[in-house]
Amino acid sequence: MSVRMRHTRAHTKNRRSHHALKGPAVSKCSNCSESHIRHKACLKCGSYRGRQVIDVVKKLKKKQQRIKEKEKQQQ
Ligand SMILES: [Zn+2]
Repeated sequence: MSVRMRHTRAHTKNRRSHHALKGPAVSKCSNCSESHIRHKACLKCGSYRGRQVIDVVKKLKKKQQRIKEKEKQQQ
């Protein structure tokens, strides 16, 4: 069978040259000037648009406790 509407390899590759994915939109935190993903809260200080939305200290404590419990289970 012969392919009637076949494109050349160059034609296909030219078309696909626009298909690459762009990296995530990153912006600077107004509170601590750390880079964070746009439209998301800063993971370092937990603020979004100049407002505190995540209790970072509480979250860190919770994480450390979870690690401790995991270590206890392994023993
Ligand atoms: Zn921040």
